[in-house]
Amino acid sequence: MATITLNKENFFYNLNQIALKTGSVDKIAVVLKDNAYGHGLELMAGLAHEYGIKHAVVKDFEEAKQIRYLFKTVLILKDEIIADEVCSFTVNSLTDITSAQEGARVELKVDTGMHRNGIAMDELDEALAEIEKKHLTLVGVMTHFRSADLLSSELFWQKKNFERVKEKVRNRGFKNVRFHSHNSAAIFRTQSFDEDLVRVGIAIYGYNELPAIYDAISLKPVLTLYAKKTSTRILKESQRVGYAGDFTANKEMTVSTYDLGYGNGWTRTVNSNAYVIPEGLPLLGRVSMDFIMLESEKEEVVIMDDAQKAAEYFSTISYEMTTGLSKDIKRRIV
Ligand SMILES: *Cc1c(COP(=O)(O)O)cnc(C)c1O
Repeated sequence: MATITLNKENFFYNLNQIALKTGSVDKIAVVLKDNAYGHGLELMAGLAHEYGIKHAVVKDFEEAKQIRYLFKTVLILKDEIIADEVCSFTVNSLTDITSAQEGARVELKVDTGMHRNGIAMDELDEALAEIEKKHLTLVGVMTHFRSADLLSSELFWQKKNFERVKEKVRNRGFKNVRFHSHNSAAIFRTQSFDEDLVRVGIAIYGYNELPAIYDAISLKPVLTLYAKKTSTRILKESQRVGYAGDFTANKEMTVSTYDLGYGNGWTRTVNSNAYVIPEGLPLLGRVSMDFIMLESEKEEVVIMDDAQKAAEYFSTISYEMTTGLSKDIKRRIV
């Protein structure tokens, strides 16, 4: 069986780096959506709790139910809004307020420029009035940046917009509202953090997708992906491997099949350069549903120990490399 290990020391190291930026562990909300970016929701939630993290962010109530006992607050990014003592729900539109259950705890998302989710800036007054009328508890006001990881001033334009939002909410007399806007990239670009919370995702897993021009923040990948050998054979010169025979042996080779494929969420994407595993061996020929081939006889090989490096082979980002990994792969903490 392909397996995943999660390195606790590296995870805690990354959280330390973030705490240095926020100034307090209590201001960190770990983003555990989509099975903790493919790392494993319950295991990562348990580790975050062990470190002392009090706040989490997940995709929906289904995810929240599995981990809510570990945290003081759990923010749900998108789901039907119901009343819950631990969970708060994102308001993504005015109709979300209309359909919310009375007494629910909500966090209002304001669209300050990304134009994906959230109410428009000029809907703010109406949204706040509706929230009061509906007897919802406003526990947070948030926004999301579209270009925090780009070398541009757009981040500052959105930040300015959000400052105006904060002022309006405060002037309306709302108390105990937490304000938050920063994701991983934004917190690393911010010199003096002055909000109540960061929603930090990719950085806790060990990746920093900022351009090299920004001060490098050292992070350590948490996830390592392994595959186990299924069988071994000798290929003669000019014999071809796998579907369509895309790889041709140019000499006699000892080749083994390993138990990982696109059925486990490993990408089948073909690039001009074959993917090379950390010990330097290229994948031979096409990726099958459950198998890959390598010139190796080892019982077990590391397929990926740095999703950001792996992502370069497939013109994608670390997020996609880990998030796609199947829930069925066994995960354990080391
Ligand atoms: C996913 C997500 C985050 C975390 O983003 P990272 O880039 O992984 O830190 C923060 N806020 C919202 C609203 C998100 O959807």
